[in-house]
Amino acid sequence: MASARDGSVRSTGRSRREFLTAAGVSAAGVFAAGRAADADAAVAGNSAGVTIERVEVFPVRYRTVGRFRFLEGPPGTPEGRASCLVKITASDGTIGWGESVPIPKWSYETLESATTALQTYIVPAISGMDPFDLYGVHRAMDANIAASFSTGMPIAKAGVDIALHDLCGKLTGQSLAQRWGRARGGPIALSWTLNPKALDETEKLIHDGWERGYRNFNVKVAPDPTYDLELCRIVKRNVPDGFLWADANGGYDLATALDVAPKLANIGVPVLEQPLPPNRLAGYGELKRQGALPIIMDEGVVSPADLIEFIRLDLLDGVAMKPARCGGLLPARRQVEILEDAGLMFLGSGLTDPDVSLAASLALYGAYGLKFPAALNGPQFIADSVVRERLTPRADGTIDVPAGPGLGVEVDGEKLNELLERSRSAAPTP
Ligand SMILES: [Mg+2]
Repeated sequence: MASARDGSVRSTGRSRREFLTAAGVSAAGVFAAGRAADADAAVAGNSAGVTIERVEVFPVRYRTVGRFRFLEGPPGTPEGRASCLVKITASDGTIGWGESVPIPKWSYETLESATTALQTYIVPAISGMDPFDLYGVHRAMDANIAASFSTGMPIAKAGVDIALHDLCGKLTGQSLAQRWGRARGGPIALSWTLNPKALDETEKLIHDGWERGYRNFNVKVAPDPTYDLELCRIVKRNVPDGFLWADANGGYDLATALDVAPKLANIGVPVLEQPLPPNRLAGYGELKRQGALPIIMDEGVVSPADLIEFIRLDLLDGVAMKPARCGGLLPARRQVEILEDAGLMFLGSGLTDPDVSLAASLALYGAYGLKFPAALNGPQFIADSVVRERLTPRADGTIDVPAGPGLGVEVDGEKLNELLERSRSAAPTP
């Protein structure tokens, strides 16, 4: 099942059985297979023979506006949205930028762990490599930071992956969409994130988004279903036609999720994202069989192999994509293609991405024709930018996919230095 933008539910694509027959690959092999690999091989061409000469990592903390519960650390910890900017210089002097966006209240990586992993374990492993050899770089990263249940430290690795995509685009004069043989796409409708501390704040928060042109809203739900149902009723009453997307971030137990899913559906919520912790596979099976709402995975699907397993076991209806969670654009693209092939829903989400990371997500969602409003809330919650022209939503709540080579953004050295200085004085960075 899939939900259209208007919230209606329809059937899409072929059956799971047809998909699995067509896939015909082992879970371990899917990363190197498929259309993404074919397209890369067709347009790669490192004719100048450049190599990765230098990789630099800049840990920073962006200032934020408003309240987003995932950015709140324990008392005494530095405020702001932590990020490691990654600068890769090729042997001909061309530069690519990437960004790792750890958010320890959402996943286990921290600014400190990402910085150390990159500087100590990943940079030495990829120095001297061909920047166009994205599969080789991922293999080198995975060999030095091993997998746990899935890809190890994917958020740290995403910074390198994104920087190489930018670098290859800059080296060839191509946008990411051009390198993928696709149209740039966009503009992309954005969804406004609601996470009120109390229900009586909700209408004011909706109003804030509405004033900025947003017409679609995503709500953070769980663990309290009574609160969640009332929250969704308030949003639906105020914005009856908006796409109201509920994300539990793994916060329900199975009994609660089974009880709340049909009630959310009755209110008009079209999808339920990550109702259970990622490793509750049997529970996902039960929710899928219940069929009250399309079940969307986020935290639980990191690598393409994970996604294949979830499809094989019939545990989901779609995935809220985010390159930062998946180790970067290469594995994220592969997952979008797997979802397309399986006739499942491809939603676009984010990790409160600052502009470099945001540009990577926009490139992916634009090129692959995202059909639902994207929960990319960097522009909503982040006050700073290091790029020359800040990525800014239009007055109608949509945002353009940046044009130009690579990510289509240019890091401004002065802005970066100011942010580094401010980050150092606000709190010691690693
Ligand atoms: Mg989510």
